[in-house]
Amino acid sequence: MFEYVEKIKNADLKNYSTFKIGGKGTILFPKCVCELKKVIADCKKNGLDYFILGNGSNVLFPDYDLKIILISLKNFKKIKKNGNFLQVDAGVNLFFLNKYCLDNCLSGLEWSYGIPASFGGLVYMNGGAYGSSIGEFIERVKVLKNGKVMWIDKNSLNFSYRTSNIDGIIICAEIHLKSEDKMKIEEKQRYFFECRKNTQPLEYPSAGSVFKRKGEIFPAKIIDNLNLKGTTIGGAEISQQHAGFIINKHNAKAIDVLALISYIKRKTNLNLEEEIVVLR
Ligand SMILES: Cc1cc2nc3c(=O)[nH]c(=O)nc-3n(C[C@H](O)[C@H](O)[C@H](O)COP(=O)(O)OP(=O)(O)OC[C@H]3O[C@@H](n4cnc5c(N)ncnc54)[C@H](O)[C@@H]3O)c2cc1C
Repeated sequence: MFEYVEKIKNADLKNYSTFKIGGKGTILFPKCVCELKKVIADCKKNGLDYFILGNGSNVLFPDYDLKIILISLKNFKKIKKNGNFLQVDAGVNLFFLNKYCLDNCLSGLEWSYGIPASFGGLVYMNGGAYGSSIGEFIERVKVLKNGKVMWIDKNSLNFSYRTSNIDGIIICAEIHLKSEDKMKIEEKQRYFFECRKNTQPLEYPSAGSVFKRKGEIFPAKIIDNLNLKGTTIGGAEISQQHAGFIINKHNAKAIDVLALISYIKRKTNLNLEEEIVVLR
């Protein structure tokens, strides 16, 4: 099966998640919408579950071998420019997109500099930082849903905190940016990256903030107030630097991270909801 598509069987999933945790699994890399459609149709025909993988910066893979088929859109990597509008493919890496914006004097996404995500993953999660989020810049999104490719206009899109109403596989999206002096863009990118480096444990593998904010409740603050920073289970640790992050300190297993998540939930007693996607 799937002989027509680029694939890795028995892939070491550690290498496909910024957590650097996981057993083995099959990853398919369609190179165009036609192949993507065929892959999805074949999964359905054969009763196989699938999961769209972006850059794996918000996922926790299990320690055991994953039955679900992973579909990566890393081969969808074009950016088309039309004035201040960019049509960006889902597989475009955010570092690359920020570099493209810098080279083309387009401003708006500087806050995202340093998020280790794919563009598709960022749009799907409505990722954001420092008071901005990607939804604000979206004009329309192209999705594959029920075997059909369609554009969804911004009037039909609903972005809220770390979520959107996008139902389907994001193929690309159009964003609207502003013209800006290159030096100013570079300055902003550097500023936001410095902010990240100063507050986040970037030297350790992680999946960013583990829990979603709950209204005005910031999980990191509550965890910090409970003096839980530095708590360790197996190889996983609540970061000393940012209480919202669980880091893979020393060959952590998914079960270590999950145990730490349960521990935090018990201690905070706030019914916290995970922002990270846990695959089982
Ligand atoms: C060090 C670090 C810092 C971070 N900082 C931030 C931050 O400042 N702000 C923030 O919001 N997040 C942050 N994150 C979390 C993470 O980068 C974001 O959630 C990001 O949007 C996930 O993108 P991804 O491409 O890695 O998606 P993945 O982690 O691979 O997937 C996340 C979800 O998106 C879905 N998905 C991915 N691509 C598509 C697609 N093409 N179509 C449909 N669904 C898709 C997946 O199925 C999954 O449900 C950080 C993570 C790390 C490790």
